[in-house]
Amino acid sequence: MRAILLTAALALGAATLTACGLGGNGNPQILATTTILADMAKQVAGDRMTVGSIVPAGAHVEEYEPRPDDARRMSEAKLVITNGLDLDKWVEPLLRNAKTGTPVITVTDGLPDIAGNPHMWFDPALSRGYVLKIRDALIALDPPGRDVYMLSAEKYSLQLLTLEAELKAKVDTIPPERRKLVTSHDAFPYFARAFGFEIVGFAEPEPGKPPSAGELAKLVEEVRSANVPAIFSEAGGSAQLAETVAKETGAKVVTDLPTDSLLDRPADSYIGLMRVVVDKIVAALK
Ligand SMILES: [Zn+2]
Repeated sequence: MRAILLTAALALGAATLTACGLGGNGNPQILATTTILADMAKQVAGDRMTVGSIVPAGAHVEEYEPRPDDARRMSEAKLVITNGLDLDKWVEPLLRNAKTGTPVITVTDGLPDIAGNPHMWFDPALSRGYVLKIRDALIALDPPGRDVYMLSAEKYSLQLLTLEAELKAKVDTIPPERRKLVTSHDAFPYFARAFGFEIVGFAEPEPGKPPSAGELAKLVEEVRSANVPAIFSEAGGSAQLAETVAKETGAKVVTDLPTDSLLDRPADSYIGLMRVVVDKIVAALK
């Protein structure tokens, strides 16, 4: 397998030099709704296409409000990549600015969801499903680049397989009875299933909205009775809720857990983000 990949890579390297691609004019040719999807698209598109994200790194995805500049970028896009399952539903009115016939893909389409939750990328196996959809969309858009997209998608999928094994080995160092998650919003059901965690609760029943007094009291009770060691507060948000719950329960607070958006290094790629998430969780719970 490796020999075949290397041979193909050499052949494609030469082909890429002569390929003209689809040109570039400052606006991304591939417009993804989130930085995580944009990174995956970059991994597959390589140098053949420019890729951008509507939501900037570090911003909240679910509460994003499109700006006039997004409509302009949408009008120049040759392919639009969305997550779906309401993570990025604000993109729908923006799509009216796309040129007629511009392909729009929804990477969660056809993948097995958990109660409609959109955060599938937290399971690397489902992320490989995202990558295949992105690959096929790029091939349909730019058929001469087929071999490049096939090869880079295969290489990236192998990296995601390796990542999954690496992360599972790290999680294995947490005693099973301590594999419990309390986070800011309901972003971790796929992660919990893939890596063997129990979701005890989250501070915001609706992303970006504080809980009612009753909801907060219920969470405190759940954290107490499940003997949860740590409360995770997400990057870009206030740690105040986590601190309130921690004060009531004796759990510790871990801040800046990345979720829906890439951040600065080392969480500036999907693979980097997953490593940061697992490292923070392992350090707090093991
Ligand atoms: Zn989210």
